[in-house]
Amino acid sequence: MITVEALATAENAPAPRVPSDANPFTIGVLALQGDYEAHARSFARAAARTVLVRKPEDLNGLDGLAMPGGESTTMLKLLERDGFLDALGKSLSTTPCFATCAGCILLANEVLRPAQRSLGLLDVTVERNAYGRQIDSTIITLETKLPGGPLEMVFIRAPRITRVGPSVEVLARRDGSPTLVRQGHLLAATFHPEMTSGHSVQHLFLDMVRRHKAG
Ligand code: GLN
Repeated sequence: MITVEALATAENAPAPRVPSDANPFTIGVLALQGDYEAHARSFARAAARTVLVRKPEDLNGLDGLAMPGGESTTMLKLLERDGFLDALGKSLSTTPCFATCAGCILLANEVLRPAQRSLGLLDVTVERNAYGRQIDSTIITLETKLPGGPLEMVFIRAPRITRVGPSVEVLARRDGSPTLVRQGHLLAATFHPEMTSGHSVQHLFLDMVRRHKAG
């Protein structure tokens, strides 16, 4: 397992803090492809111990897992080796997960345009690349149900959530479509909270991890 301390030092990022009494958790970041380094740094800044997850064994002993944005098809191909996808699904049936963009696509019950295999844990339907091409990627400030006021949201070839099941709570929307949703121990965003300076989404997830651990 690679800890984020080494990663951050190498890139001259602000030195991550070791777990504080407030966040004594180990957060894994799925690090097969995509923007996992930004996730790792944002959780390290939120004072959680952060480790990179690259093989099924790395899933052991995590308090939570972040699945980053990137290319879900590529991630899926890499996950289909060595029983990683099955191990991931088993782990996330109980371990809290924070999934962004491609991660949200992996977590969904149903993926459309085109249809694609997924973990089927989050009761939503997503349409891939539904807001246009890369050139149409955008940053918008929108209201959310989180404390701390409106949130800057970075959308990059984002999926659109077109259906949510009855157990899914919608915490933010763009043009009526959910962009941040929660279902029990699962939190998913179609945007990239790890790319902006605020940490309210990361803190919400750490709070979910804390409650989950407390039982
Ligand atoms: N378009 C990508 C996909 O389908 C997701 C983009 C992202 O994660 N920013 O997987």
